[in-house]
Amino acid sequence: MTDLSAFIAGLPKAELHVHHVGSASPRIVAELAARHPDSPVPTDPEALADYFAFRDFAHFIEVYLSVVDLIRDAEDVRLLTYEVARDMARQNIRYAELTVTPYSSTRRGIPDGAFVEAIEDARKAAEAELGVVLRWCFDIPGEAGLESAEETTRIALGLQPEGLVSFGLGGPEIGVPRPQFKPYFDRAVAAGLHSVPHAGETTGPQTIWDALTELRAERIGHGTSCVRDPELLAHLAEHRIPLEVCPTSNIATRAVASLEEHPIAEMVAAGVLVTVNSDDPPMFGTDLNSEYAVAARLLGLDAAGVAALARNAVEVSFLDAAGKAALIREIDTYTAAHAGG
Ligand SMILES: [Zn+2]
Repeated sequence: MTDLSAFIAGLPKAELHVHHVGSASPRIVAELAARHPDSPVPTDPEALADYFAFRDFAHFIEVYLSVVDLIRDAEDVRLLTYEVARDMARQNIRYAELTVTPYSSTRRGIPDGAFVEAIEDARKAAEAELGVVLRWCFDIPGEAGLESAEETTRIALGLQPEGLVSFGLGGPEIGVPRPQFKPYFDRAVAAGLHSVPHAGETTGPQTIWDALTELRAERIGHGTSCVRDPELLAHLAEHRIPLEVCPTSNIATRAVASLEEHPIAEMVAAGVLVTVNSDDPPMFGTDLNSEYAVAARLLGLDAAGVAALARNAVEVSFLDAAGKAALIREIDTYTAAHAGG
């Protein structure tokens, strides 16, 4: 381990763009598979590591859906959520906004109340036992259409889970125009939720403009294509609209051809506030610490620069002011101790 990767590993961090099911590590999937022996997913962690070895995007979807199929009851939901927090604690992630897609579970017959109770139980236990503070972004799976938007909004606003802070939109962008989801985002924002849709990952800058003007986005998930539009870059910088950048995910999904061509440095050079995130870490063979190492390489950062990135994520998170101040203090204390040798 290099000095910088050791620094990153110990650095207290916040993660703002990471998916619930997409965070199921081979260890967690093995536990879920053991609960459902009829599933084709292997239960042995070593066989699972092979099963997870990323080949291409189609393989990612196949693995993702087979994990979705293992989440059949509220206990599966609770186990997944708590164990994801355990994997976060090991990386010194202190705070995470986890993108949860309740529609995937309610559609499969888990009652909405039981689903919400399961994630909330896991959230409270993770905070008390693991020191990881979780908040939720409920997202609309865009490919499932307006019915899923209605259902996601109904669950968010009807049940109002204590940990819910934001409202998102995921799934494919091509063929799924953002403006059609405006009425649902209007309702969510009116109810006090923050708007954080995915946009401009696999489509051009217009999708990001749509997210800003139609969905009232406060942060943009990915936003990779913003660098193709100087006016958009200037707008994001001027209005301090942060991007949730997930470098390895962008390569895995072919949104960007190679890490060397990743536009994160261009974003930073234009004055846009970036945060570094892992998206679906085990499925893309990464974790947040690796993503920080990648960002450090692409941006030429030393320990102080990496600490500044970690501060960015806390500052633009939806954690309350006292929580933010405490986490910034932790980052500063850790960084000062490191600098002191
Ligand atoms: Zn995502």
